[in-house]
Amino acid sequence: MSFKHKKKYGQNFLNDQNTILEKIMEVSNVNSEDEILEIGPGEGALTELLLEKSKKVNCVEIDTDLEKILRKKFDSNPKFNLHMGDILETDLDKIIGENTKVVANIPYYITSPIINKLIEHRDKIKEVYLMVQKEVGERVSAISGKERSVLTLAIEYFGEASYLFTIPKEFFTPIPKIDSGFISIKFHEDKKYEKQISEELFFKYVKAAFSNKRKNIVNNLSTLGIPKNIIQEKLEILGIPFNERAENITIEEFIALAKLLENK
Ligand code: SAM
Repeated sequence: MSFKHKKKYGQNFLNDQNTILEKIMEVSNVNSEDEILEIGPGEGALTELLLEKSKKVNCVEIDTDLEKILRKKFDSNPKFNLHMGDILETDLDKIIGENTKVVANIPYYITSPIINKLIEHRDKIKEVYLMVQKEVGERVSAISGKERSVLTLAIEYFGEASYLFTIPKEFFTPIPKIDSGFISIKFHEDKKYEKQISEELFFKYVKAAFSNKRKNIVNNLSTLGIPKNIIQEKLEILGIPFNERAENITIEEFIALAKLLENK
């Protein structure tokens, strides 16, 4: 009997189109030194190739109906480690080693929480390769413009995201409504932005700046209780127009602005 896909778990499996799987392996450069974390192995289409190429594969899968299928396929391989459970509840420190590479076609309903969890464990993760919804991929790697969001800035603060390639929806079973994008995130080893401003302060201003996407930076930052004339004074120092929106402000400008506003 074939597996019945569950919508609630975001189960759109890569079907046997080896071109895509091979492309994933190629861009993520998986090699015999790598310890991999795969979130949501599904029926193991990607897992099989990861096991072939890497040193070790740690999989976290929530759906108990998939456990038997995965164990039957891979349990005899000593490189394979399956952890049943919700990735968001899993204590990653107990599972992953230093220098882990994440390669996964994740469940899209929890894309942001997964990325935030990987960011939290960045000290043990060297690179991240993820399949996400195409528009999310475009958003996290956007340099400027309306696609930028708090998530874009969160990733920029900790690392660098790149949009690698598009995967048409027909490559999945069942076929989803939208295409997917494959992205990479490489964390800043020198912690260049973390050194300049604390996470807490940075996100206080970034979240306020994006709180209402239709409003300009002055109106949005004033929700923090800062008088508008003070915000305008600091924007003028930085040469940022008063009617600018958060989406067009670079991370460097955000850091400079946050610092000026803290010292007001
Ligand atoms: N990697 C497989 C592939 O490419 O064919 C499956 C990808 S499918 C988009 C997402 C997978 O994540 C499914 O196997 C689903 O059961 C699993 N999943 C969903 N929610 C999860 C969660 N909270 N924790 C761990 N795995 C989850």
